[in-house]
Amino acid sequence: MQFSLIATKNKARRGILETAHGSIQTPFFMSIATMGAVRTMRMEQVQALGAEIILANTYHLWLRPGLSVIQQAGSLHQLIRWDGPILTDSGGYQVFSLAKRRKITEEGVRFQSHWDGTEHLLTPEKSIQIQRVFGSDICMVLDECVAYPSDYATAALAVERTTRWAKRCKEEFLKNTSNASALFGIVQGSTYPALRCKSAQELIEIGFDGFALGGLAVGEPAESMYRMIEEVEGMLPQEKPRYLMGVGRPENILEAVKRGIDMFDCVIPTRNARHGILYIWKERNLSPWFLKTATQNTSWYKALHITNERNKNAHKKIDEQCSCSTCSHGYSQAFIRHLFQINEPLAMQLATTHNLRFYIELMETLQKLIQA
Ligand SMILES: [Zn+2]
Repeated sequence: MQFSLIATKNKARRGILETAHGSIQTPFFMSIATMGAVRTMRMEQVQALGAEIILANTYHLWLRPGLSVIQQAGSLHQLIRWDGPILTDSGGYQVFSLAKRRKITEEGVRFQSHWDGTEHLLTPEKSIQIQRVFGSDICMVLDECVAYPSDYATAALAVERTTRWAKRCKEEFLKNTSNASALFGIVQGSTYPALRCKSAQELIEIGFDGFALGGLAVGEPAESMYRMIEEVEGMLPQEKPRYLMGVGRPENILEAVKRGIDMFDCVIPTRNARHGILYIWKERNLSPWFLKTATQNTSWYKALHITNERNKNAHKKIDEQCSCSTCSHGYSQAFIRHLFQINEPLAMQLATTHNLRFYIELMETLQKLIQA
């Protein structure tokens, strides 16, 4: 993997990330294919929206369909029919949030699968081995996530373990240098500036291809999340990509790009689409919000609840200027509302298509603003 910065504006960065499965323009948003599918979408549709990379979840794919199926397919790319880059998480976040009866030890996390009760042990080494079987272009280290809020002592212990596990992940990762994939470290430390800096420093010393900020957007105020980015931004190597995990709302992405973040992922556009919430531009020229240092602002877009009665006779596109296939084919708000009312699966596909395009257009707009 190779990262080149091509422009900066204040802290914001515009670059190109080259992987074995193609180049990605930064800053970028990753569509989520939790279990190997971006829900309701065909991969060729995701690609047609301008998506250059997707994210898949190690925990889910490890349990179902299982490693042997992916191994026999050749790679995750082969199985799911996505030939672009794939980033996979370590599985840790889902073990902490979904699994039953988990027990953390220095060795790893022993847990019971949330769907069939079978027992598994996820260690730092195992997480890397699984991601290697997938053939992931970007692998993530296994980290210890703490809930929000967490007291200082708990967050401090999690940072120490995250560093020790990150070292073990790196050692395991270096056992196989035959493919071109990358390994990212994950900065933890809850909302404590001192812990965030300590975590970043220790990971920089181990050395990674990129650095993520984990454990944010978990319920803390947005200002607190921006503060944590500002704390570590100056420490992180300029020549390596930075990834803000699980973020976020459109305004969070804009603010984080301003503060030097290059990569994002979030379930919001796809999950909200399935619940009939559609994102619509109110103002496509983002420069007033991008150039101002003021706090976050949401006045440049709106979220339309398509199932509302008032949309019953809205015989117009979701967004006249949107280039997604839903809008360009002319599907009306009235028809999409009707499809949601009758639980027709097409409703979710039309909405997901539009929302993903909104997020990708947001990233393209930010890329242009930085480069201008
Ligand atoms: Zn659209």
